Amino acid sequence: MNKKARTLSAAILLLLLFSGWSVAAPIQAMILDGRQAKSHDWVTTTPLLKKYLDATGLFAVEVVTAPALGQDLSGFNPDFSKYQVVVLNYDDDQPWPQATQDAFLRFVRNGGGVVVYHAANNAFPKWTAYNEIIGLGGWRGRNEQSGPYVRFKEGKVVLDRSPGRGGSHGPQDSFMIEVWNAKHPIMKGLPPKWMSSKDELYDRLRGPAYNLDVLATAYSDPAKKGSGEREPVFFTIRYGKGRVFQTILGHSVANMRDVGFITTLQRGTEWAATGKVTQKVPADFPKENTESLREVK
Ligand code: ZN
Repeated sequence: MNKKARTLSAAILLLLLFSGWSVAAPIQAMILDGRQAKSHDWVTTTPLLKKYLDATGLFAVEVVTAPALGQDLSGFNPDFSKYQVVVLNYDDDQPWPQATQDAFLRFVRNGGGVVVYHAANNAFPKWTAYNEIIGLGGWRGRNEQSGPYVRFKEGKVVLDRSPGRGGSHGPQDSFMIEVWNAKHPIMKGLPPKWMSSKDELYDRLRGPAYNLDVLATAYSDPAKKGSGEREPVFFTIRYGKGRVFQTILGHSVANMRDVGFITTLQRGTEWAATGKVTQKVPADFPKENTESLREVK
């Protein structure tokens, strides 16, 4: 840059500053994926997660993929500190190296955001701190040792410690999602009820459930092999200074076309990173009796 250009850029910068425009830096986001067995295909779902985050214009997204199943994890040590939010599209139970576990915990405790996407709540049933971060999880042997079920009785959240499996779901179906906490920034402005499109409604999740704030629920119908309970669909967890958003939705690329899934993923990721949501609710958001699928090219 020559002197004239430098002077001009400085002048433009000053003008922007004084005119009150803000040139917001993008939110640094990592999608951490890999190691899942056949039932969840991170190879196809991660590009869609990235596409949806990119579409907001708010994030700079990088994908970090763990060594493949069966490969050595000892060199796996992503630099969490470069990011404001980590979106987990990861399911495995092989422990990360101690230094990597410590770095992840330090990241969250110091205020890093985490998004727990669908089967990421299956990972690490034995890693206590991971389960405290995700709040609730399922499968891989989870049971009453893993923590309570989160239940809803007479308008209140109740922790149910009765014995039983952690994690199941009936066949894919559409279901009514009902907002529980309409004041939360992620839910603000969304309709109080909307129809999901066909997806897995995770039920009977169990976990420590510390500092857990339920955002929305759906009834898991026993006639469709469900639990007969309202199940948490979206919730947040406070862990140290960190904010965690969990969505149980989005089993595969087909299910990820649901506009309710897309919108809550985008809003939940912004909130986990910054504590705020600046995004508008899209016009094609589903309604109480109408599901909404977006064409994904
Ligand atoms: Zn699934």
